[in-house]
Amino acid sequence: FEVPIAVNEPVKDYAPGSPERATVSATYTEMYNSTIDVPLYINGKNVTTGDTGTMSPPHDHKHILGTYHKAEKKHITEAIDTALEARTKWAEMPWEQRAGIFLRAAELIAGPYRAKINAATMLGQSKSIYQAEIDAACELIDFLRFNVQYMTEIYKEQPASTSGAWNRLEYRPLEGFIYAITPFNFTAIAANLPASAALMGNVVVWKPSDSQVYSAKIILDIFKEAGVPAGVINMVMGDPVMITDTVLASPDFSGVHFTGSTHVFKDIWQKIGTNIHNYKTYPRIVGETGGKDFIVAHKTANPIQVATGIVRGAFEFQGQKCSAASRCYISKSIWSDVKAQLIKDIDSLKMGSPEDMSNFITAVIHEGSFDKLASYIDAAKKDTNAEIIAGGNYDKSVGYFIEPTVIVTEDPKYKTMSTELFGPVVTIYVFDDSKWEETLQLVDGTSEYALTGAVFSEDRYALEVAIKALQNAAGNFYVNDKPTGAVVGQQPFGGARASGTNDKAGSKLNLYRWISPRMIKETF
Ligand code: GLU
Repeated sequence: FEVPIAVNEPVKDYAPGSPERATVSATYTEMYNSTIDVPLYINGKNVTTGDTGTMSPPHDHKHILGTYHKAEKKHITEAIDTALEARTKWAEMPWEQRAGIFLRAAELIAGPYRAKINAATMLGQSKSIYQAEIDAACELIDFLRFNVQYMTEIYKEQPASTSGAWNRLEYRPLEGFIYAITPFNFTAIAANLPASAALMGNVVVWKPSDSQVYSAKIILDIFKEAGVPAGVINMVMGDPVMITDTVLASPDFSGVHFTGSTHVFKDIWQKIGTNIHNYKTYPRIVGETGGKDFIVAHKTANPIQVATGIVRGAFEFQGQKCSAASRCYISKSIWSDVKAQLIKDIDSLKMGSPEDMSNFITAVIHEGSFDKLASYIDAAKKDTNAEIIAGGNYDKSVGYFIEPTVIVTEDPKYKTMSTELFGPVVTIYVFDDSKWEETLQLVDGTSEYALTGAVFSEDRYALEVAIKALQNAAGNFYVNDKPTGAVVGQQPFGGARASGTNDKAGSKLNLYRWISPRMIKETF
């Protein structure tokens, strides 16, 4: 069979007066004015535990959106057992049935659930409507459609045969179950990590971030309606250490699909090492972690383009993308033009609740994040080697609001040039026009991460030098563009060094990790 050729879902613009704007607005209000309860989901059943946490909009933290249930150890064991029971039938199901389920999920999001998943992402994660649309609607739909196409391309890859022997590869799923740990910052990633493993025939225990349970529930409902059978994707919330330790203690644990922080990923890796003698199979370890992503601008760069790259790269979704620009190196001769444009652009940005769709900046995810960002801003206000040229104010009385903030430093190793902050704070270092190559060395050597980066230059030779000098500094490298906003099917996403295993989300490379092929040679 052939599957439909995947095409990227067009982004709706939610222009004032448009029908999609009216629908998402009404859905937002309706969801804001009601509460939901999110149980665990094990073997196709809702499981309540009595131990609950609450969910609130980060931009309106006194308001309650609902509750979610926290698992005890026995629930995790049950999730593992039921996943393993579901495995045989799921793994044996013809791939076109699995494709049908996930293509249907994509259609449900594109149509009837679009407003709901966008509104949930606006309410639960404080995304502006545009940021919700490119994530919870378009990127999620793209992941589902492209992965189905990639799956069929992989299954077609077969070795050569000779006249006396027929060689064939049978693309089996892994033996055991997959553990998906997903982040708060992308609804699409939260859905894709369990879904891509399941698409390849695996069963999954999925732990969403506590800060994303609200939209995770919608994903779960969509998967259920699309036909994902009981036991194939089980969702559990609660104490992350208890959940992870219980999962990793199972001899049937066969892989982790992770997006989150570097130290958690390293801990998991270490625990897998400790348990290695207990496993039936070597677990696959696939993770995307942090970033300290750069923009470097040559003296020939267009200052307007550079300023736009900084504003969009650093401040969209409050800088809470692993790919967000957070350290910039700008050549001295263009700095005054970049600075003027930057300040003008930032002045025009509106901050507030995503309910008002003209707001570009909304709140950061929770109080912990707010306090951390505020402390770095306070330090920069006091430090003699740092100057705040835009923003610098914050207020958590209603929501966790931090103004888009630009720090300029003369110290290229200043702490905010190397520490990941995960918020709307960007640091700029201005370098001497003659020091292009030295600056590139600095870019490469300042951070342990290597996720994304961007170079702006109108000089092809300077660009060539940068592409070479920074070959290991970013898994996603952008020329004359912001370092965020990778599109599935166009820019496979992921980085190396401390940023992850670089198994490129939204590509075949990622799907290969969820299969364990059997080679069958039949001799005639
Ligand atoms: N893929 C997203 C981008 O290109 C970032 C994903 C993340 O933050 O983990 O902006």
